[in-house]
Amino acid sequence: MNKIKLLDDTLINKIAAGEVIDRPSSVVKELVENSIDAQSTKIMIYIEGGGVKKIQVRDNGIGIEKNSISMAFKRHATSKISKNNDLFNINTLGFRGEALPSIGSISRVLIESSHNKRDGYSTNINYGKIDDIQPSSISTGTNIVITDLFTNVPARMKFLKTEKTELNLIYKYLKKVFISFPGIHFILNVNNKEIYNLIPVSLINRINEIFSDIKDNLIPISYSHSSFKISGYIGNLTTLKKSNSEQFLFVNNRSIKSISLNKTIMNCFQNLISRGEYPFYSIFIDIDPKEIDINVHPQKSEIKFKNEWVLIQNLSTAVKVALKNKIHVLPRYSNKYNYDSANNFQQSRLN
Ligand code: ADP
Ligand code: MG
Repeated sequence: MNKIKLLDDTLINKIAAGEVIDRPSSVVKELVENSIDAQSTKIMIYIEGGGVKKIQVRDNGIGIEKNSISMAFKRHATSKISKNNDLFNINTLGFRGEALPSIGSISRVLIESSHNKRDGYSTNINYGKIDDIQPSSISTGTNIVITDLFTNVPARMKFLKTEKTELNLIYKYLKKVFISFPGIHFILNVNNKEIYNLIPVSLINRINEIFSDIKDNLIPISYSHSSFKISGYIGNLTTLKKSNSEQFLFVNNRSIKSISLNKTIMNCFQNLISRGEYPFYSIFIDIDPKEIDINVHPQKSEIKFKNEWVLIQNLSTAVKVALKNKIHVLPRYSNKYNYDSANNFQQSRLN
């Protein structure tokens, strides 16, 4: 056996990138989340070639100080937590200090930033090698351009799907973030075509822009418990889909996966829907960060609740209360349906 030795930083970052950055959509996620954490009110996203050719995220956030730009590409360098206790009181989307070094190790990066609208600076990172800092004309926020993603990791490149599939995964992520932050102005441009220009609006109007004309089929949820708040919208039976692609759960504005919470919500629809039918929902749980542990998974999509049982019971009540008025649950029928037969059909489902 060879002698044991410490791996060099570039190799360590490449290994970490395998966990955090598995495809173009993860780059988009990490960059957009950094922009949100930087208190941006406007975020522009440009994608070319399914993200492999180019991913650019430009924001109007607080920016990065000149001396911190290179630092941001070092492993475990973060401005978001500093001491042990902070790990159990996370108020930002990022905190692990892994994204930028991971992205920097598997692509070419141009970063420009202006901290507090003062002078701007830029640098390039080529497959982990950071260039010197230069003055830049950027006057607000941060602009990051990623090109040649995965070109130095052929194994990863091989696993990528078609441009269309990679793009769909990017849309899938972005839809969640668009809903989760309706107060942020998002612009999405794909292959030089503007796909979304979403000005700040209320949650229901943002949902309506993403899922065309769904507004009249949404039932609001609003429920308070001493240690959390549940809000958002559930869809009536018009919103039923054959997949769960329009079911969203957010904890402190972070999109999460939770089999148990999803099951709780679906159980409330039990007598209304058949197997294989999925109503729309976009439910937000606001909870004291001390009551949860986000650090379960490198991509931070899973969460542990200190008191999951209490949350489950209250979530169930919140959804049931919203569904109680069955009139709202009934779908609106288009003219092609005969009202009576539609009504009978619904009645049989409601009994
Ligand atoms: P994390 O988000 O976990 O802290 P990242 O590697 O994603 O780690 O980013 C490292 C640091 O770079 C962040 O903590 C932040 O200080 C800074 N940073 C990254 N992107 C931006 C941005 N768009 N605006 C301002 N600061 C940023
Ligand atoms: Mg981050």
